[in-house]
Amino acid sequence: MEVSTHSPQETKKLAFEIAKKISKGSIIALYGDLGAGKTAFTRYLAGALGFKSRVQSPTFVVARRYERGDLAINHIDLYRLTSKQEAEEIGIDDFLKNRECITIIEWPEIIDGILPKETIRIFFEYTGENERTIKIQNLY
Ligand code: ADP
Ligand code: MG
Repeated sequence: MEVSTHSPQETKKLAFEIAKKISKGSIIALYGDLGAGKTAFTRYLAGALGFKSRVQSPTFVVARRYERGDLAINHIDLYRLTSKQEAEEIGIDDFLKNRECITIIEWPEIIDGILPKETIRIFFEYTGENERTIKIQNLY
């Protein structure tokens, strides 16, 4: 599926629709350049799933965790890592094995080869100041 959104608010609506289709164990890989909207999307998705805490970029800490009742989101950002080996050092295998929570990964390119086949992939492209083209794969 491919859509264009013309404001953050529209991306928020899209996140709301996507939230209905994901569940515990979902792994979501977010692709796109800096400023494409990966973190904003994660924030909207967490909001749609009822998480109240503010989602902040995990770029500098690599991973953040949000909890809500018996549901949790692990939000990972591999931007500062340069190889699969480095991702393994921060425990990416354990994150991917953990099916008790929702796992969201920004800059997943270095671990593309080890993402499970059911991974939902979302590609964000900057197409104008407030416009993004968003392609979604593997979400049914
Ligand atoms: P990334 O995590 O991909 O580097 P961010 O989510 O941090 O990007 O930043 C995206 C920025 O783009 C946010 O400031 C957001 O408000 C803005 N933006 C503008 N238009 C849109 C849109 N249509 N969808 C999502 N974000 C948008
Ligand atoms: Mg980001």
